[in-house]
Amino acid sequence: MAMQEIAPGVFVETEHLGSNNSIVSTRDGLVLIDAPHRPTDAMRWRRTAAAMGETAFLINTDHHIDHTMGNYFLPGTVVSHEITRTQLVENAPSQAYVRDLIGVIDPEGLPLIRDYHARPPTVTFVDRMALDVGGLRFDLTHRPGHTPNSVYIELKALGVVFSGDLFCELGLPAFVEAHVFEWVEAARFLETIDAERIVPGHGAVSRPQDVTPFRQKMEELIGEVADGLQKGDPREVLAQRIRFEDRIHISIGGSPSYPDHLIELFQRKSIEAICDQILARNSAR
Ligand SMILES: [Zn+2]
Repeated sequence: MAMQEIAPGVFVETEHLGSNNSIVSTRDGLVLIDAPHRPTDAMRWRRTAAAMGETAFLINTDHHIDHTMGNYFLPGTVVSHEITRTQLVENAPSQAYVRDLIGVIDPEGLPLIRDYHARPPTVTFVDRMALDVGGLRFDLTHRPGHTPNSVYIELKALGVVFSGDLFCELGLPAFVEAHVFEWVEAARFLETIDAERIVPGHGAVSRPQDVTPFRQKMEELIGEVADGLQKGDPREVLAQRIRFEDRIHISIGGSPSYPDHLIELFQRKSIEAICDQILARNSAR
């Protein structure tokens, strides 16, 4: 695994299956951003962090399991949007789902999840929040898009932004819970944000202008769905036919990929979500 230091004290691991994981080192302890998905990665990450200091906070950019599963294995006060808490308290994936998934993507991690339960944030916010840790200020801002509760984090003093899945350099993530049109606007906003580096939810550390091709990919997909609806194709037909490349849930750094049936389900539900929101927007006009 190749952890890189992208700014003084800001360490990013982009080769875990699941989300990018970051550690920001301050003189009053560490702030972690998103947690590893695979239990074996999470245990390694815990040791990496422990060697660097005490973990003060762990921020989740959304509630998805690839960003929050590792909360269970890591120390620190978990911080996120209040809907992220609600999701992890009320709608956390079932034990069976988690076991089946880990059995595929991290069989060696199965013994580590015998007592697994979601660890929801205990400090939450609605619109924005500032965390001042060891002289560094983290600005957390709610920006619906990939999920209704997505947040991005600015470290203005160091010119670094953590976008969560509002931007994924690796390609399009699922739209299953997305606010589709707000997401396009969020991406457009990130294209011009004042930062040197943008750490995406998945994929290589980038610059704000690198968000443009991602936003265009999203618009192409939405356009393809809109064309289908325009031609009178039913939602079910489009959900069967239209596909986008999924590089988020497939092998990274030698790990196994998500099971095919889940990847297929995400695709179908993504196209359905896009259909529904195009139809809702059209009928509101
Ligand atoms: Zn993600």
